[in-house]
Amino acid sequence: MHHMTLAEIARGLADKKFSSVELTQTLLARIAQLDPQINSFISLTQDLALSQAQAADTRRANGESGVLLGAPIAHKDLFCTQGIRTSCGSKMLDNFKAPYDATVVAKLAAAGTVTLGKTNMDEFAMGSANESSWYGAVKNPWNLEHVPGGSSGGSAAAVAARLLPAATATDTGGSIRQPAAFTNLTGLKPTYGRVSRWGMIAYASSLDQGGPLARTAEDCAILLQGMAGFDPNDSTSIDEPVPDYSADLNGSLQGLRIGVPKEYFSAGLDPRIAELIHTSVKELEKLGAVIKEISLPNMQHAIPAYYVIAPAEASSNLSRFDGVRFGYRCENPANLEDMYKRSRGEGFGSEVQRRIMVGAYALSAGYYDAYYLKAQKIRRLVKNDFMAAFKEVDIILGPTTPNPAWKLGAKSSDPVAEYLEDVYTITANLAGLPGLSMPAGFVDGLPVGVQLLAPYFQEGRLLNVAHQYQLNTDWHTRTPTGF
Ligand code: GLN
Repeated sequence: MHHMTLAEIARGLADKKFSSVELTQTLLARIAQLDPQINSFISLTQDLALSQAQAADTRRANGESGVLLGAPIAHKDLFCTQGIRTSCGSKMLDNFKAPYDATVVAKLAAAGTVTLGKTNMDEFAMGSANESSWYGAVKNPWNLEHVPGGSSGGSAAAVAARLLPAATATDTGGSIRQPAAFTNLTGLKPTYGRVSRWGMIAYASSLDQGGPLARTAEDCAILLQGMAGFDPNDSTSIDEPVPDYSADLNGSLQGLRIGVPKEYFSAGLDPRIAELIHTSVKELEKLGAVIKEISLPNMQHAIPAYYVIAPAEASSNLSRFDGVRFGYRCENPANLEDMYKRSRGEGFGSEVQRRIMVGAYALSAGYYDAYYLKAQKIRRLVKNDFMAAFKEVDIILGPTTPNPAWKLGAKSSDPVAEYLEDVYTITANLAGLPGLSMPAGFVDGLPVGVQLLAPYFQEGRLLNVAHQYQLNTDWHTRTPTGF
């Protein structure tokens, strides 16, 4: 049962092969048995899951249908869930029970999903390895000595280990696509504004975007359908109709123009990954796509720009955690200032503190022009590169990451080394574009992802290309040994 995709589950439930309660019980038992190896959950919500499953079964018995009705999922632990701990992977919010549901959570619950729990993540979504969580590192099911990627490493590891078919995640600089690549999943970061950020705890508000992590493009289409749409509670949510993503999957790729940026194949890329990317390009050519070399000349400036903008926004967003209104408060503060200082010093981990300091510095009078303003100008150049490229091609293809998943601890004492691993993913966030990562092969037994980027609101095109690719390849069907 645990090998089924969301699409297979929907068919099974519709055909009455099993009930949502049976499926939920099976997966909860599997999580209890296997999750201790990978640490992908921060909280399990067994009682909620069983009552939602029961309710979904009743709705079906009363004649309702729907692809997500009775489908078990989990939420990254930065989506607020009413009455349930929403920790953001931080000691700061270990005692925080959200007073309301995030829009994404509410929409998916209304569609009939069953919430099995809240998944582990890098603290406040800062990281590429899922080692900065206060609840401990997540392990990669493909090799327990390696990281699963971050910051949505818990969602990715849980889906890869077949503990559940799909999960929500968020992507500020790659946190859906990079863990998807590291764990052999398909993950989609939608266009900025496509999915509501209301009730999604903010890291860098102009970059954050929620999206699906699943094993197939078909499942990403199903989950995205339940997440996307205008939300008057989010002022950056965009009032554009949501297309039927599943209906778009079967379009032909004949004549599709794919751009491959020459800058992607620089010295930093593992040559074995480059080889797999070329193979995936050939596969798409066989399906009718036309390949063109393009250039994204400002790509080299994206990492420094991102690592100014994201910390700057984080330093502002995280100022609300002051020991007064939310979360952790230190013991016996001497006075108000001592309470602020120690609550924040004890509640936040070192990576979060580093970013708050960098961000506050970049925003301070005297340095604002040199760092923050400069970074915003680079952001515009990066966007302009994409706009020029999309005049010539329909999608852009390249590696999701320069290297496969590294060993636990290998980069945790060298933050810049970890930042450099985000080179291919952060540009889509700076420009607000949709991006998808899908399985493209293995290096040393570790999965490799190929990334596709498209113009604004063309998530359907990305899912279409990925689905056609997956009908003709079987990388995405491989299962990690032991799971
Ligand atoms: N690795 C990037 C960072 O640490 C991206 C994280 C994310 O997308 N949430 O900021």
